[in-house]
Amino acid sequence: MFSGIQDTSSSVLIVDDAPDNLDLLQRLLADEAYEIRVAPNGEFALRAVEANPPDLILLDIHMPGLDGFEVCKLLKSNDRTRDIPIIFLTALNNPEDEGRGLTLGAVDYITKPFQAEIIKARLRTHLKYVHQRNLLEQLAKLDPLTEIPNRRFLDEQLENEWSRSLRSGSRPLSVAILDVDFFKKYNDSMGHLMGDKALIAIARTMTQILSRPADLAARFGGEEFFILLPDTDQAGAEMIAEHIRKEVGALAIAYPDASVTHHLSVSIGGTTALPSPGIGYNELIERADANLYKAKNSGRNRVIWSSFLAGEDE
Ligand SMILES: [Mg+2]
Repeated sequence: MFSGIQDTSSSVLIVDDAPDNLDLLQRLLADEAYEIRVAPNGEFALRAVEANPPDLILLDIHMPGLDGFEVCKLLKSNDRTRDIPIIFLTALNNPEDEGRGLTLGAVDYITKPFQAEIIKARLRTHLKYVHQRNLLEQLAKLDPLTEIPNRRFLDEQLENEWSRSLRSGSRPLSVAILDVDFFKKYNDSMGHLMGDKALIAIARTMTQILSRPADLAARFGGEEFFILLPDTDQAGAEMIAEHIRKEVGALAIAYPDASVTHHLSVSIGGTTALPSPGIGYNELIERADANLYKAKNSGRNRVIWSSFLAGEDE
């Protein structure tokens, strides 16, 4: 389940071939509440970053094998690692080396012997930028009204889950589109503020019901929401959708004009597929949308579902 803005402690990777330096720096940073990892050479550092990217890297230059400049160059040429700030920490104290380090993309260059307070302060500053950038990246994936993921985040997740399911060869993927019944009329008669409140309440209900980590409720647009249920077969997915439909009804959002109930209700169209190379996840969306259309045309306030395999027509 997507739980809004995440705040975790910062992780720092220290790379130095001298064990004494690693010890010294670890002790120095012990009271800063960072998660500290160490690497004794460049090759090790690259593997450690690949396995689990840190928020910042303190990088020695003089090391046997790959030196710090080469490590920096490799990290900066990789899309996955180029944004990790690198601070060189080195005995090389001539301006040419400093110029080279900064040109390679390091955010800072500190020479040994160093002042403990300077290292600490610069780390804090650069980690603050990392934190701010992460916040902005997370905000860019949230729908501002309902504070659940937006279409952009959904598209990323859909693509990920589709590929994951495709690789596994046997894991069904279920998706659904939920639409609020007569929402335009509700907005017109109750006012936009009430409309917004209703969307927020429905989003919250969906998020509460989708309890597994990979399940996702996202704002699809207007009064439409999207439900992504990885590794879920039709029976399981339909049950979840039905649960959402009932719980939205149980919110009892008063709507005197409603022709179906006296409360705001939702229609849900869903589909379950076993991804195969011949199809794309857009077909999944189209199927869900077609079922939503059926739900709307057969009286609303209901769930309509189907499953499909590649090449098969319902
Ligand atoms: Mg060294």
